Amino acid sequence: MVTWRLLQAFGLPFTLLAVNAVLDFGYHDAALLEIFLKRMHEIHPNITHLYSIGRSTRDVELWVLVIGKNPWNHTIGVPEVKYVANIHGNEVVGRELVLHFIEYLLEGYGQNEELTQLIDSIRLHLLPSMNPDGFSQAFTSDCDGVIGRYNHNGKDLNRNFPDPFDSGNGLREAETKAVMQWIKSEWFVLSASLHGGALVASYPYDNRPPGSTSRYSASPDDDVFQHLAQSYANNHGSMATSTECFPRFTGGTTNGADWYTLRGGMQDYNYVWGQCMEVTLEVSCCKYPESDKLKDFWDENLPALQAFLHKAHLGVKGQVLDQGGCAVVGANVLVSDHNNLRPFNTTQHGEYFRLLLPGQYDFTLLEVLSPPFEQSFAAIFDQVSSCGHVQEVGYSAIGHKLPDNIAYSGHRNIKVSGDGLVALRLSILDYNLVSDLFRQFSGFLLFSMLIAIHAVTKQQNDSFSPFKLDE
Ligand SMILES: [Zn+2]
Repeated sequence: MVTWRLLQAFGLPFTLLAVNAVLDFGYHDAALLEIFLKRMHEIHPNITHLYSIGRSTRDVELWVLVIGKNPWNHTIGVPEVKYVANIHGNEVVGRELVLHFIEYLLEGYGQNEELTQLIDSIRLHLLPSMNPDGFSQAFTSDCDGVIGRYNHNGKDLNRNFPDPFDSGNGLREAETKAVMQWIKSEWFVLSASLHGGALVASYPYDNRPPGSTSRYSASPDDDVFQHLAQSYANNHGSMATSTECFPRFTGGTTNGADWYTLRGGMQDYNYVWGQCMEVTLEVSCCKYPESDKLKDFWDENLPALQAFLHKAHLGVKGQVLDQGGCAVVGANVLVSDHNNLRPFNTTQHGEYFRLLLPGQYDFTLLEVLSPPFEQSFAAIFDQVSSCGHVQEVGYSAIGHKLPDNIAYSGHRNIKVSGDGLVALRLSILDYNLVSDLFRQFSGFLLFSMLIAIHAVTKQQNDSFSPFKLDE
């Protein structure tokens, strides 16, 4: 088979390369990585967008390739998702997995129906290397060393983010600043960071609150994080059962701090400041294995990488609009028993995405600056079942239905309009348990069954007092 690398090595112009050029199972340096991403964008211009989030300390572009139906911009109702690899420059398997995943998704789009639906339902950002400077120092077969782990300034980027429990963890590196800005601008919902040196899916918190006596550092969304990590481990070829690496983890998952605590980690930052559910994936016992192992790593990880993306549709999402139909920006989205250190807020489009497991929740949308709640609000609920059949389960408490009550995407939505506080109680059902028929169409969790709508007073919500966290 004529591979992409071979063609490149002969210096053939990329425009002459076969459309189905095959990425080889070898390591690709910064120059090859850039060429590959540009080539993928060139072949698939309608579903990709290539951009840089900044430059490394040694001035290497931090390239991100977006894949999606509308890759250039956010589409209301479509969750932003990301994969980040190679934050530790000498943990290199994830870097190659991301490149192969890009090729796999782009070649499957329009060919494989399930894959096409998946890509159409999210906007996926892929950063193959967050630490290209470290990568350039690392070397093959160094399974547990640290050469190349750090950035050019000798800083561990996965200790360089603001920490929810430790405000004094230093200056930010160029790579860290770029990622922080990226997280702030894109409102990611779901993310994974790929590492090496172990075989486990780890989830927040990585650090513990001061005075905590427990090793396990549960976040308010611990149930969801466990589910996300378990999903990756279970869909991976060996993560859940392997005894190859040390230490070994029951079921292939661990709470970050329960393994070991660290300050300034990226996943805690994503979660606390970015309202993005990020897990850390350790995908190889050896940090920099021989390249002839890469095909096996790819085969083991592909099903997990793909299945994980479906999790962007867990729980509920919706849009908060005022009485005039305008987006309410920065409204707090509060879920019972899931009180985040910093409350999740609606985006610049008034959207919220709240990944939740099946269950019953009190769900409160709190617009901080609005006048106190009076006796009236209108709430309109539109539901689109995952098979595309629009089914209105609208409920108007007091007030009137908006004329425009059509759901805005192919998934489940709530559209809420009102002043002040709007509290909803909703149930999220797992359709996998309800009907095999629905599973054919989705495999996702689908919320339904509006139990009640009730107003709450502002006073009740004052009991929720998030920490003051800057950055
Ligand atoms: Zn690492």
